[in-house]
Amino acid sequence: MSARFEHWVEGEHYKLLSLPGRRVALFIVVNHSLFQISAETAARLRAGVRHLNLEECEEWNALADSGLLADVNTHTLVEASPNDGANLAINLYLTTRCNLACAYCFARGRGHRVLDRDMDLDTIPFLFDFVRKNVTPSKAVRLEFFGGEPLLNLDFIRRVCDAGEVFSQERGVRLIKRISTNMTHLPEAALRLLARHKFIVSVSVDGGRTSHNQNRPGKNGRAWFDKIIANCRRLREASPDLLLVARMTVNGTLVPLTANVCELWQHDIFDYFQIWPAISVASTESSPAAEGALASPRGTKDTIPPDVQEEFSRLVKAYPFFFSRSKRFRGILEYERIADMALNGKVANGYCSAGRNYFTFSPNGAIYPCHRFVGDTRFQVGDVRTGLTEEPITWRQSPDQSPACRGCWIRYICNGGCKHHNLLSTGDITVPDPSLCRLEMGRVMGILSLIAEKGGDYQRHSRAPLDDLFVSCGRPILPREVAARALQLKTKWFTPLGPAD
Ligand code: SF4
Ligand code: SF4
Repeated sequence: MSARFEHWVEGEHYKLLSLPGRRVALFIVVNHSLFQISAETAARLRAGVRHLNLEECEEWNALADSGLLADVNTHTLVEASPNDGANLAINLYLTTRCNLACAYCFARGRGHRVLDRDMDLDTIPFLFDFVRKNVTPSKAVRLEFFGGEPLLNLDFIRRVCDAGEVFSQERGVRLIKRISTNMTHLPEAALRLLARHKFIVSVSVDGGRTSHNQNRPGKNGRAWFDKIIANCRRLREASPDLLLVARMTVNGTLVPLTANVCELWQHDIFDYFQIWPAISVASTESSPAAEGALASPRGTKDTIPPDVQEEFSRLVKAYPFFFSRSKRFRGILEYERIADMALNGKVANGYCSAGRNYFTFSPNGAIYPCHRFVGDTRFQVGDVRTGLTEEPITWRQSPDQSPACRGCWIRYICNGGCKHHNLLSTGDITVPDPSLCRLEMGRVMGILSLIAEKGGDYQRHSRAPLDDLFVSCGRPILPREVAARALQLKTKWFTPLGPAD
């Protein structure tokens, strides 16, 4: 008997992940199905599909007949438009003013400084005109209030909220409001506004007191951690059901990342965490490649140092602990998005929405595909007064069109990497940064292993709010139907893992 898909290659079409107790998870790359198999079956699959024994081969072919091995992801991407999978999101860069001097602030460099102003109130009518023209069929739009410190331009926020209420009623558009704030100052007027409009509040806080105060001191050297926590508590008391997200940047390893998450988690204020490495452009010559990941080609730069990668690997292993107490913690956003895609067969229609449905309005009225490119006029795609004038084609590449990504085992979850990391690492927004690839592969490996190991409780977590949140810079996600026949299949060698498990 010949096995279906004999040409499949491990690491490209399917991936084997070792679990404790000689168990192995089999991840089908081309449709995100996940199975548990024995170490013996895994050894044969490692050598190739045609090495399966007769019984395994019969079951493998039955899986193929029931659609569980179908190459759904490629077809889903081919059929989708580049704009499918995410709501329109507009990042409003309200001011360049900020009272902090963060060690890794990307807004200190390039063109950010020359902007040096607040966004004018006369931008507001253009903003809603842009929304009217570019809203997606979901009729939900996320407005991201950003800076600098956006609460320093509170009047602008208030007026957008007021105009937004009228616009929503007239147009039937749901506005989701999110703010990225350092939370060092929270005047009563700001507190009431955030609570009244049910903002998603993303607080820049880098873990525990030591790390935060070291990474994000005031311009006058002041330590702000305790004040930030106190302000978060005030906000929580004013609006118990408001979503608070701890936005952590990992800059160095003086305090272990897991300890930082733990210290912040103990305060029991935040619903979600969002954790990203600071960008550090160092030479790659001595970078070791992680298991199954890419080595850095000569001439590229790693943006994430090896010791920071190591900290992320430890965190994903410790992750289940944070669900094990009666805290309000609902997850780390990047991890939960991966779990959602793996468990529900969803496909990433891009690493982020930048240049598709996500745009940044800069204080001088220029429109960019992403907040990190503000001031770099090579990437400007329009102006608030005239709307979009450039079609950012290169921001819309599928992983199947990318020479670097087309053979990668997480290509339908990651889909190309952050364009900003790519540019800093390789000089080309479409050529991946190998150090970010290693980070993403480690995250996916960790979460798939967690799903396989923990089963039930973790699989059934509610992930419904993810679409409204700014997960992985608004990664566009394409849903698909799970084959009904597959759910009824009785198997011995390939045990499906997932919601039907
Ligand atoms: S950018 Fe993502 S999809 Fe592309 S090779 Fe790197 S990890 Fe894989
Ligand atoms: S993932 Fe990178 S390119 Fe995309 S919006 Fe975020 S910072 Fe910009």
